[in-house]
Amino acid sequence: MHPLTRPYLRRLRNEIDVRTLIAEVLNMEHRHSGGHFRFLCPLCREFNTAVNPKTNLGRCFCCSRNFNPIDLVILVKDYDFLQAVTFLEPLLPENVQKRRQAATLFDFANLFKADT
Ligand SMILES: [Zn+2]
Repeated sequence: MHPLTRPYLRRLRNEIDVRTLIAEVLNMEHRHSGGHFRFLCPLCREFNTAVNPKTNLGRCFCCSRNFNPIDLVILVKDYDFLQAVTFLEPLLPENVQKRRQAATLFDFANLFKADT
């Protein structure tokens, strides 16, 4: 695992799109309304929420709380901090990219196999 330096934790909070995390990774209930991406607050179960793409934070207006990607994983998966960091690591853009390249190489190799 990557050493848990401050800059690294900042990257986990900032570079993993919180909307993608909510909608596609954690499969949290979400909807678009009033021009905002809203999600079901994991604390109060209300939809009175919004996501700020600039800060990459979700906010619940009922709880008056902000959630960064690490907070959300902890709450939704019931993980501790370290588990949440481990969970988020493969979602960093360069790791997603690496997996995509690996998948492409795999397909490429299979293409040749199919020919013989
Ligand atoms: Zn709430």
